[in-house]
This record gives sequence, C-alpha cells and structure tokens, in this order.
Amino acid sequence: MLASLAVLIELQALDSALEAARKRLADFPAAEKMSSQQVASATAALEAAKAAFNDSTAARKLVEKDVAGVDTRMARFEEHKAAVKTNEQFHALQHEMEMGKQEKAVLEERVLELMMDGDTLAAAVKAAEGVLATANKALAAIQAEHAKDRAVLEAEIATLLATRESKTPGVDKPTLAKYESLLKGRKGIAIAPMVNGGCTACNMGLRPAVQAQVKRNDALYTCENCQRLLYFVPLTAADATTPS
Ligand SMILES: [Zn+2]
Repeated sequence: MLASLAVLIELQALDSALEAARKRLADFPAAEKMSSQQVASATAALEAAKAAFNDSTAARKLVEKDVAGVDTRMARFEEHKAAVKTNEQFHALQHEMEMGKQEKAVLEERVLELMMDGDTLAAAVKAAEGVLATANKALAAIQAEHAKDRAVLEAEIATLLATRESKTPGVDKPTLAKYESLLKGRKGIAIAPMVNGGCTACNMGLRPAVQAQVKRNDALYTCENCQRLLYFVPLTAADATTPS
C-alpha cells in the first residue's frame, strides 16, 4: 500500500474519534440547560402551589373573622334581650338572631370548605417540593457526571491530537492539505473504503476501471461522485470464511 495512503487512513480514524469526542463535549451544555430548565419550572410550580395555599389560608382567615363578627353581633342581641319592652321589639330581635344564625351557618360551611381546600393545597405544595428535589438531584447528577466525563474526554482529545501530530509528517503537504480540505467540506469523512465496488461514504457504485485502480492501493484515487479519497481493504482469511 502507498505509504501516504496508510497514514491518511490512520488520520481519518483519529479525526473521526476526535470529532466524536468533541461532539460529546459540545452536547454537555444543552443537556445541563435542559436539566436546569426542569429545576426552574419545578421551582415556579412550587412557588405557585405555595401562593395558592397562602391565598386559601388568607381567604379562610377572612371568613373566620366574619364568623367572629357575627358572634359579636349575636352576643349584643343577647344583651338587648333583657331590655326588650314590646312584643314587636322581641320579634324583631328574634328575627335578627335567626338571620345571624343562618349567616353564621353559611360562613362556617365556607370555613370547612376552605379548610379542605387547604389540605389539598398543602398536599400539592408537598408534591411540588418532591418534584423540585428530584429535579435538583438530577441536575447535580448530570453536572457531576459531566465533570467526570469532561476530564476523560479532554484527556482523550489531547492524546488523539498528539498521535495525529506524530502521524502528519508521513504525508506530503499538498496531500495533507487536500485531506484536510475534504475533511472540512465532506462532513468529517475525507477518505473511505471501497466495499463491493462502491464508495462507502456516499454509497455510489464506482466504474469498473476506477474499482480496478482503487484495488491497487498504489495511489490516491477519488470517488467520482463525492470526491473523497478511496482505498481498498482486501478480504482477510477470517473474513473469507465468515458465513454471510
Ligand atoms: Zn463517494
């Protein structure tokens, strides 16, 4: 095999690994942002649940105050009872007291309703606290995992770059420039193996004359469709005996 072709194949493997490692690193912020957004929405939901609970408590306190107001009025009626002189005054007072009783019953019913609402809303606050705790835990776990993975990936990238640096002297400058321009312009694939007479990068079949050239691995041949460099991997004995 042409020496520079062998180096380009190695470079492609290194560059593909570099791209994969860099892509994983680049995905970290988006994953963390998504998790942070879940924490933010759980925080907002908890605040809303607390506000609903507080509103309900405040409403109940107002009604309880109204009940106390009715009680005060009723106590005054009781005091007036002794001072009543006429039958008419007695009936009027009795009517007032009956009205007060009814009003108090309605208010107490409302207090009961609000107390039950309060229980439901308190449970909702508790549930929202649980959701927030889970979201916070998930975010912390993602951040810890990323911190660990980031160190591993950065070390991996440094090793890949160093290896790449040691390989590039094996290719002449114009060839390396061509490889790098293809790498940039062809979605990270500059050189691809020919398999079954086709380019594995673009999946186009190659003309028999081109296939014959590529099979020689003695020069840099390009795919006529995608312009990538091509090489041929002869079947090994193991491949040949593998049933397909
Ligand atoms: Zn191609």
